[in-house]
Amino acid sequence: MLTISSPISALNRVGRATESKFKKLGILTIEDLLSYIPFRYDDLSKTVSVSQLVPGTTQTVRVLVEQIASRRGRSGKIITEAIVADESGKIKAVWFNQPYLSNVLRPGFEVYLSGKAERNVWGISLVSPSWEPVREAQVHTGRIVPIYSTTADLTSRQIRFLVGQALPFASKMADPLPEDLRRAHGLLPLGRAIASVHFPDSWKEARAARRRISWERLFLIALRNRRAKERQKSLGAPAIPFDEPGTREFVARLSFRLTDAQRRVAWRIIRDLGKPHPMNRLLNGDVGSGKTLVAAIAAWNVARAGKQTAFMVPTEILARQHFRTLSRLLSGTGVRPALLVRSAAETVEGPLSAGTLRERISGGEVDVVVGTHALLEGKVSIPKLALAVIDEQHRFGVEQRRRLREKMEEKRRKGEGKQKEKRMLPHLLSMTATPIPRTMAMTIYGDLDLSVLDEMPPGRTPVETRLLSSGRMAEVEEIIRQAAREGHQSFVICPQIDASDPANDGAGRAGARAAVAEHRRLCQALPDLSVSLLHGRLPAAERERTMAAFAAGEIQALVSTSVVEVGVDIPNATVMVIEEAERFGLAQLHQFRGRVGRGENASLCLLVPGAECGQEGMERLRIAAGTQDGFALAEKDLELRGPGRIFGTEQSGRQADAALLSDPALIIETQEAAGAFLAGDPGLAGHPALRAELKTLGEDVHLE
Ligand code: ADP
Ligand code: MG
Repeated sequence: MLTISSPISALNRVGRATESKFKKLGILTIEDLLSYIPFRYDDLSKTVSVSQLVPGTTQTVRVLVEQIASRRGRSGKIITEAIVADESGKIKAVWFNQPYLSNVLRPGFEVYLSGKAERNVWGISLVSPSWEPVREAQVHTGRIVPIYSTTADLTSRQIRFLVGQALPFASKMADPLPEDLRRAHGLLPLGRAIASVHFPDSWKEARAARRRISWERLFLIALRNRRAKERQKSLGAPAIPFDEPGTREFVARLSFRLTDAQRRVAWRIIRDLGKPHPMNRLLNGDVGSGKTLVAAIAAWNVARAGKQTAFMVPTEILARQHFRTLSRLLSGTGVRPALLVRSAAETVEGPLSAGTLRERISGGEVDVVVGTHALLEGKVSIPKLALAVIDEQHRFGVEQRRRLREKMEEKRRKGEGKQKEKRMLPHLLSMTATPIPRTMAMTIYGDLDLSVLDEMPPGRTPVETRLLSSGRMAEVEEIIRQAAREGHQSFVICPQIDASDPANDGAGRAGARAAVAEHRRLCQALPDLSVSLLHGRLPAAERERTMAAFAAGEIQALVSTSVVEVGVDIPNATVMVIEEAERFGLAQLHQFRGRVGRGENASLCLLVPGAECGQEGMERLRIAAGTQDGFALAEKDLELRGPGRIFGTEQSGRQADAALLSDPALIIETQEAAGAFLAGDPGLAGHPALRAELKTLGEDVHLE
């Protein structure tokens, strides 16, 4: 018997091949299929008569097939042509490479055809219209038709066809939202919402269905976040007393004044550290807003309390950079920093063996250890670990947190005996330079407390952004040459490695600006300059070497894909060229731009659109060029591309309307509903369906 968890191969006309195509969309079962909601609709509900067809617009006609035949065209394409008619007249309909159509649409059939009308010497024809026999259910035409996001080998039509078959199962889907909650918030039952979201009879119905589905998702996210925060409160962490006079003195010794934002955020963090529960805070601040200093103030307090801080960054180059910065900031305070990466172990006194450094760390003779994430994998124990700072990473996974705890537990196993105590975790401070729109932060980072550094240290020259017209490479080369003459350096970013690269943000295609070819070209065009290449397929060691050489000023121009690390501080780089810039999101463009303008010198960011850049792309580049504020750009990006594309957040379980997921009013409503709901049933004991649904969402902050 068929159930909602039956594989889609149980439906009519689904063979192996079709099944594997759906698998690519994550659709395995009938329930998955029903949960795959359309991203938009075409209104084909109004039919016109043949004589009313207007060339250039998409319309629907109800016609009789008079003749139909397929033939091979000159280009090798198979062309199927039909003569169709209603009382008002006759027109031609044409399809390409669908030879089976002449077997399906027999003369005498009455069909709906929806498509674009074109005028040619023969009169008006419909080109590649969707079609559907009138006597069958109206799925593809003659109604508001759902449009799904598809893959190369799967059409909206195929999806629609199967969804149509699966629709009777919609009423069998368990509704995780209890009825009283639905009633209180004016939400449709799930089965109704699913049926309407695919085949709405009106726009109003489509809207209500999408609201209901998105509401459920936001509600689940809010439940998850609240539960994660509750759980956090039940865990223990070392409470760090606030040494206020000492902190003031530390800050006063700096060569500059804290910005108000730094002061506010640092104080907030110190307050969190004082509690016996682990802090879980995300510090979001634009490139150059001074996040490292804020972390240093926290680490200083931790050291004063006799505890340790681990400072983790994605790459060795960044680790070295942070070690240098922290050593400078902490010098003369008695706090002892160290660097531990695969290729080096170092304290302020100089290099030492990794083994010796590990011993010092576990003996408590190091207060702040800076390293890559490999710190977590290594044998090092950090017995007095009280604060973990993670730079340039949005999320810190469950697995990594478990490792952090192990780093602390070493001590208890060896030293303080086996007393059963509360599970302990270090405080966690994640830092990121990717501006996160407020609405996004409220949902996907809602389990973290958020601090924002929304003020830049004074005295920075903003980066001038210029939008060039496509193909002006001679101009670009001249700018790079000029920068080199003044002793400065340039980045050149390309969207892909080479033509075979499936690229970061889309399908690789011939003719796209590729780093490998661009590197070769620039080497020839700029023979006096040292031009290097960086991309993700190069071995990590080579990438590190190249970045180090660039940081040391040995390379004048660096051609790279988007792997150029966030956070790398090369004050001497003054030119950022982004080729085929329209292929990057606004937030990413801003990240690239942040690689320059880090020193005293005036810097330049050149956006070069590709030859195929359309109007929409140009508009986006104009926005990037005209806005320096990373948060404003991130909001804009969210509007233009939706949350999934920006942060690559997987949508597991039922999909929802991307626009509604970032709708502030809906977010607030669901958060309040989640709060009230958990007050009534904190463990969700009375709501097993909701608990099950939360599992599919992935309670990724789960600590046990
Ligand atoms: P990011 O937030 O991008 O990590 P950093 O912490 O690397 O920024 O700081 C960028 C630069 O600004 C560093 O050179 C740092 O010393 C400097 N800086 C930080 N805070 C201030 C301040 N309040 N006034 C002046 N310069 C500052
Ligand atoms: Mg930084």
